[in-house]
Amino acid sequence: MEKFRKLGICENVLKVLSNKKFTKPSEIQEKTIPLVLDGKDVIAGSATGSGKTLAFGAGIIKKVAKGEGIQSLILTPTRELCEQISEALGEFSYYKKLTVTPVYGGVPIGQQMKKLAYADIVAATPGRLLDHLKRNSIDLSKIKFLVLDEADRMWDMGFKDDVRKIIDKCPKKKQVLLFSATISRDLANFAEKYMNNPVEVEVDNYVDTSKLKQIYYDVRDSEKFSLLTHLLKTGGNGLSMVFCNTRRNADFVEKNLRGNGINARVIHGGMEQKKRIRVLKEFSERKIQVIVCTDVAARGLDISGVEQVYNYDLPKDARDYVHRIGRTARAGESGIAVNIVASRDYDNFSNVLRKNEGLVVKKSETPRFGRVRIEIPERTQGRGRGVHGRSARTSGDRGRSNQRNGRRPQRGGRAPTSSRGGRSHSSSRRFN
Ligand code: AMP
Repeated sequence: MEKFRKLGICENVLKVLSNKKFTKPSEIQEKTIPLVLDGKDVIAGSATGSGKTLAFGAGIIKKVAKGEGIQSLILTPTRELCEQISEALGEFSYYKKLTVTPVYGGVPIGQQMKKLAYADIVAATPGRLLDHLKRNSIDLSKIKFLVLDEADRMWDMGFKDDVRKIIDKCPKKKQVLLFSATISRDLANFAEKYMNNPVEVEVDNYVDTSKLKQIYYDVRDSEKFSLLTHLLKTGGNGLSMVFCNTRRNADFVEKNLRGNGINARVIHGGMEQKKRIRVLKEFSERKIQVIVCTDVAARGLDISGVEQVYNYDLPKDARDYVHRIGRTARAGESGIAVNIVASRDYDNFSNVLRKNEGLVVKKSETPRFGRVRIEIPERTQGRGRGVHGRSARTSGDRGRSNQRNGRRPQRGGRAPTSSRGGRSHSSSRRFN
C-alpha cells in the first residue's frame, strides 16, 4: 500500500485498494497518477487491462467534491466500456461517496436525466451525451477533468465531431487526459488544439507475454468450426471468448455452438443494449462459459477468469488482435489465445504479425477432431460458398479447402501433415 500512498492517492481510495488486495501500482498508474495530481494534461498509451481506470480515476476522485455538479466527464467508444468504467469508478470512490453515472444509448433516456441531476462524475458514449446536451439535461459548466478513453477507437467509429461538440460545451480551463493505443496524425492535431502541453506516458507492453500463450492452428476453411467446437469441449473450465469479424458470423457461430451442446451466447452491436448487458452479466457470473463476440462489443471489457480467447476470424486491424488477446491473462492470471487460421485468414494474420512486431504466435499441431453438424443460415445458401467454407446445409462431408481468393500463399512452407489422418493441406502456409 505504501507504493500507492507515495503516488499521492487519497486515504479513502487507498482503503478500497487494500480491500481489493491490490499490492502495488501498475506501470501506467505509477506514471500517470502523479501527473494528474499535478494538474497536467496527459496522453497515455491505453494499455488494455493495465489498470488505466485507476490511473485516471485516482486523481479525479481526489479532486472532485461531492454534490458540486458534474466535475469529471469520461468519454468512451462503447456502451459496455462506459458501464464498466462507471462501475469501477463507483467502487474506487466508495468511501468518498461520489455519484458516478453512466450515460449511453440503447436504453431509455428518462432515468438518466434524473440521475444526472445528482452526478459528480459521468462516463458517457458521445452520441447519447449529445442527446442530453440538446435536451439541456446535462450541465458541463463545472467540468474540471475530461477523459477520452480509447480515443483511437472513438475516432475509428466516427465520433470525432461529436467529441469536439462536447468539448466546446466544457469550460476552457480543465485537465484533459487522453488514453489511446495509437496516436494518429488526426489525434495529434486534436491534442495540439485541445490540450495544454500534454505529457506523454508510454507503458512497455500491454500484453503480459509471460502469462499469455499464443498459438495458431492452420486448417481448411471447412474445418474451422469443427475444430473450434472440439477445442471448446476439451478446453479447461475457465471462460472463453470467441471473436468473429462480423455480426453475421458471430450469430452463425453462436447458433451452431449451441446446436452442438456448448453453452454459448452471442454479443454484438446489433443487439438491444439490455440484452448485451444481460449476456455480459451472465458471463461474468459464469452462468455462460462461452461468449461469441465482435470487436466493438468486447472492446476494453474486463472480465476476470477469461482463460481462452479464440480468434475464429482473424481481425483485419492488427490493433484489434492485441485488444482481443488482452481479454485474457489479466491481473496476473494466465491465459491462452488460439488463432484458428484458414486460407481466408491468411492476409489478416500476416498483417497482424507484421504490424505487431515481437508477437510470438506458435504454430500448434492440430489435434484429432470429429466433424460436427453445421446449419448454414438460409440467406447464405444458394450464393456459392459462404464464409464458412461450404455451401451445403450440414458439414458432415469433409468439404474441399476454401481457396476463395485463389491466391497462393506468399511464403509457403511445406504443407504440414495433418494429425487427422495424414492428409496434407494444400492451403497451409508458414507464418514467421
Ligand atoms: P483496467 O485497465 O482499468 O480495466 O483494469 C484492469 C483490471 O486490473 C481491473 O480488474 C482492475 O480492478 C485491476 N487492477 C487495476 N489496477 C490494479 C493493481 N494495481 N493491482 C492489481 N489489479 C489491478
